Amino acid sequence: MADSKNRFDLVIIGGGPAGLTAGLYAARARLQCVLLEKMIMGGQIATTDIVDNYPGFPEGVNGAQIGTLFEAQAKRFGLEVRQFQEGLKVERREDGFLVSCANRDELFCKSLIVATGSGWTPLGIPGEDSLKGAGVSYCATCDGAFFRDQEIAVIGGGNSAIEEAIFLTKFARKVYVIHRRDQLRAEKVVQEKAFANPKIEFLWSHIPLAIVGEKEVSGVQVKDLKTDQERLLAVSGVFIYVGMKAESDIVKELVKVDAQGYIEAGEDTATSCPGIFAAGDVRQKPLRQVATAIADGATAAIMAEKYIEG
Ligand code: NAP
Repeated sequence: MADSKNRFDLVIIGGGPAGLTAGLYAARARLQCVLLEKMIMGGQIATTDIVDNYPGFPEGVNGAQIGTLFEAQAKRFGLEVRQFQEGLKVERREDGFLVSCANRDELFCKSLIVATGSGWTPLGIPGEDSLKGAGVSYCATCDGAFFRDQEIAVIGGGNSAIEEAIFLTKFARKVYVIHRRDQLRAEKVVQEKAFANPKIEFLWSHIPLAIVGEKEVSGVQVKDLKTDQERLLAVSGVFIYVGMKAESDIVKELVKVDAQGYIEAGEDTATSCPGIFAAGDVRQKPLRQVATAIADGATAAIMAEKYIEG
């Protein structure tokens, strides 16, 4: 049974914009609350160079910086944060939930906010796994500088792929964008920026078949879907941005999730399990942005407060 320092009204899992906003509201409501994060604070935006569409920053804002600002604001009101909490398990108890941590801490809470976000979807082609960290990357901010003056490829046509391709031109001599259709999915304003960048070359209607290389990436085998022709594109790095998957495993036995693993919860963030609320990218929703994540975080905290008060 959890000792008194590990008994809380509310446990928030995830330290991205949704979790930190929930923490800010919960701390201001004077709930006994702790936020658990498995890695660095800030979530997915912490690995984004510039966030251009979060209101209040007319020149855009660095992703890691915005995460730090969210954290500082929540801590100012007394939010307790515990980082590097991997391998969490959640069990339902008669009067709440037991959260077991890998370090053997056991936390008991009356209510739980799941703000675990989403992770990158792998492509699932040969060479992707074996060359991960040796030229295959899912994080331009982390790895871009390794490719100074080199030729690299970005796979995908959404906001992530195109924004990161633009960012990578700061380092690389040339960035190929390999996209399976002849139209991008990214926002128009992002597309315009990419089309105006002389270092970016688009391979339209192409798919990657395999990433090749002995110890490091030396190329990517691509296929032109219009001609069926295959060729080897010589690149030393491959950045993969083909969508996101929900990080809901931690509660998927307790709450309803959809076919993609996103937690089913409405605008009130209430899940199918009373006392568990889902906020941010992990929730089934039409738009995944910082702006929508923070709205969820605020709602989830207030709903959790009402739930705790009965
Ligand atoms: P996304 O919007 O789902 O785009 C994924 C891209 O990968 C699509 O272009 C898709 O092609 C392509 N793709 C998927 N599976 C593929 C496969 N097996 N082989 C080749 N290509 C494949 O994912 P995202 O760009 O990571 O964005 C995820 C969410 O975060 C979105 O809601 C996005 O708006 C949001 N986001 C927003 C911002 C921003 O607002 N600044 C920045 C980043 C992300 P098709 O187009 O043909 O389907």
